[in-house]
Amino acid sequence: MKRIALLLAVQLLFVGVWAQDCDEALYKKAEEIHRKYLTIDTHNDSAMYFNHPGDKYSVSKGQVSFPMMEQGGLDAAFFAIFLDQGPLRESSRDSVYQVAMEEIRMFKEYVAKRSDQAAFATSPEDLYKLKKQGKRAVVLALENGYGVGLDLAKVDSFYHAGCRYITLCHNYTNDLCDASRYENPNGHGGLSEFGKEVVARMNELGMLVDASHASTSTLYDIIKLSKAPIFASHSSVRAIKNHPRNLTDQEIKDIAATGGVIQIATGRWCLTDAPKSETRIVHLVDHIDHIKNLVGPEHIGLGTDFDGGGGMVDFQDCTKMKDLTVELLRRGYTEKELEMFWGGNFIRVWKQTIKVAEEMAKNKK
Ligand SMILES: [Zn+2]
Repeated sequence: MKRIALLLAVQLLFVGVWAQDCDEALYKKAEEIHRKYLTIDTHNDSAMYFNHPGDKYSVSKGQVSFPMMEQGGLDAAFFAIFLDQGPLRESSRDSVYQVAMEEIRMFKEYVAKRSDQAAFATSPEDLYKLKKQGKRAVVLALENGYGVGLDLAKVDSFYHAGCRYITLCHNYTNDLCDASRYENPNGHGGLSEFGKEVVARMNELGMLVDASHASTSTLYDIIKLSKAPIFASHSSVRAIKNHPRNLTDQEIKDIAATGGVIQIATGRWCLTDAPKSETRIVHLVDHIDHIKNLVGPEHIGLGTDFDGGGGMVDFQDCTKMKDLTVELLRRGYTEKELEMFWGGNFIRVWKQTIKVAEEMAKNKK
């Protein structure tokens, strides 16, 4: 009996050591992947947190900073200027535009003060250049086309300010389109006439049209109209978590058919019905797996929504990126697939968007 107990103890010890070795090997592999390949998070709301620490925008505790990005092996992120939806009145449209431009000015000041750590990027080439320099790449984005008001020239203004995508709407119908969260029966039934002009102008500028937050009818209008692949900066899978913000399998297939990419969001509300304390990286990876199995590994990436509702207990900030890679490795993702997930897929879509703009310019001549 004693001998059996001893044998069992030795066996358990062996399994324990083996598991530890295995984990260590996976972490080593994750380190290597993050060193070798460009890693991008296409959506956070951290600029608003930096600009207003401690006020209503600080829904969480600062999930992103440049040193934290470096620690987590995250090279680049899109920092959204988030605009709360207000009334669709001329005076409100003007004031919200002023607010957006002021937020951009403040955030640029924040980055300038940390120029040894990070710099702004406006093209895929900038991202690779900054990675080589060991600096974090910061790309601006506008979350909520409400900031454009009814003035097409403002699309150009945001582009020239550095924004490389516009999320056409947030939770409510605006002048551009209908939203997924609170679908308005008296809305536009998709893109408005002005929204269609905005999408066309964004194509001409080489700006990514962000379909996250858009209603199904808006999404299909974008698919019909946009000459570039479809991009969703932070959206998850409806088949796993039934939430109006999440994409149905049919929508995922139709986005993939354009050569597009879905950047999975990490908020508990969009991942699972499990309680907050039990929502983990494994739930996030379930969404990634689902898209991979449905349409292939070419159409997935990450849009954390950090400082805007993103994160789970074991993925509470951007220092945890390698833990996500470890779980993907555990599930058998290859190095090539991880390169694609962490940035390759998104860069393909961004480059194609820029190419579309160049071709439109050529044809105009
Ligand atoms: Zn959002």
